[in-house]
Amino acid sequence: MSNIEDLVRSFGVEDGELGVGGTRVSLLALRAGGTPLFAYDRSQLTARVGRLRHALPDDVQLSYAVKANPMPAIVQHLSPLVDRFDVASAAEMRVALDTPTRADRISFAGPGKTDDELRAAIAAGVTIELESRRELRRAVAVASDVGVRPRVAVRINPPFGVKGSGMRMAGGPQQFGIDAEEVPEILPEIGEADAEFVGFHLFAGSQNLIADALIEAQRETIRLIAELARGAPEPVRYVNIGGGFGIPYFDADEALDVDAVGDALAVSVREGREAGLGGATFVVELGRYIVGPVGVYVTRIIDKKVSRGKTFLVVDGGLHHQLAAAGSFGQVIRRNFPIVSATHAGEAHDAEEAEIVGCSCTPLDLLGRNVALPAVDVGDLVAIFHAGAYGLTASPTRFLSHPDAAEMVV
Ligand SMILES: *Cc1c(COP(=O)(O)O)cnc(C)c1O
Repeated sequence: MSNIEDLVRSFGVEDGELGVGGTRVSLLALRAGGTPLFAYDRSQLTARVGRLRHALPDDVQLSYAVKANPMPAIVQHLSPLVDRFDVASAAEMRVALDTPTRADRISFAGPGKTDDELRAAIAAGVTIELESRRELRRAVAVASDVGVRPRVAVRINPPFGVKGSGMRMAGGPQQFGIDAEEVPEILPEIGEADAEFVGFHLFAGSQNLIADALIEAQRETIRLIAELARGAPEPVRYVNIGGGFGIPYFDADEALDVDAVGDALAVSVREGREAGLGGATFVVELGRYIVGPVGVYVTRIIDKKVSRGKTFLVVDGGLHHQLAAAGSFGQVIRRNFPIVSATHAGEAHDAEEAEIVGCSCTPLDLLGRNVALPAVDVGDLVAIFHAGAYGLTASPTRFLSHPDAAEMVV
């Protein structure tokens, strides 16, 4: 519960209601023309990046992974606060290119980049993080049509995974990256091709709350890159070690100790520089950690019914906007995201317990089970926290053809 109380405090209570950026959510709903809506708190976003940068070593750059929340206003806001952007599609790339961030500070990762996407990235001067040998060859072929030398980095699939990642994206067989043991064969091919090699990228996993596991992964990542760098066709300038910093979604979760991660990273980076990566820019790449906690999903109670002794609150939103809160975006066990009555955020949440269900005709559309609430009624607003990352764009918005949710930065 303390997790929820901290979240309410971080957003603030205005006249008894939850606030975002100092404005009551009921006013935000009017501003949006209705509910449901996602509201992102601008000053919390700025503060989170500040705290993160304070924890990370001074000589490590911060990249924002746009797929966590690609809303253009968010990406624009982050542009002066972070050093770089990582994108995973041409559409995300265009959002990043519209900001003041320079193209050579944008990297494009992800399997299955089409020739059109490669062409757009090469024309724009964005770094392509190569996911396979075939992708290297396609990028070089496309680049010769464009008449621009492609800037490339090699994404490595390491021999190790990372303990405690909510989503594992490295180690063993993977669609991501080039197996570490194959990288020494590919580097000379890049050297001979008409391509500018900048360095390496290794992203091992997502949503990790265990500082020791991240510290170990970062150390291993930098060691592996230093070793592979010996076969590089040009001095390595770019070392993107990924991220994976998690946020405490659930009651039992403890927040990640980013200061511990940052302190250990300073040591690992120093070792990496001594091992031949002296001139490189080190980069940590984060999405969810930056934006997840600054967003809230607000939805209105449409119906309140009791079925065989259980109270159900049916809301106008649901899994079509916030799939993760329904437990279907990568979770093994469904657990409640932190939820409060936005209308009565200032009151004790101990008057009733209810199931909060979305408006889609499937039992999967369960946003909260046995949620403790103050006395609530039809028309009240409910807020689901941790909606800043992998919310609207990670949800099946076409499902049941319900209306879209508004998004706003406040
Ligand atoms: C998804 C992804 C990220 C962001 O992961 P978070 O858990 O949101 O920090 C970073 N880098 C790459 C390559 C990704 O695919």
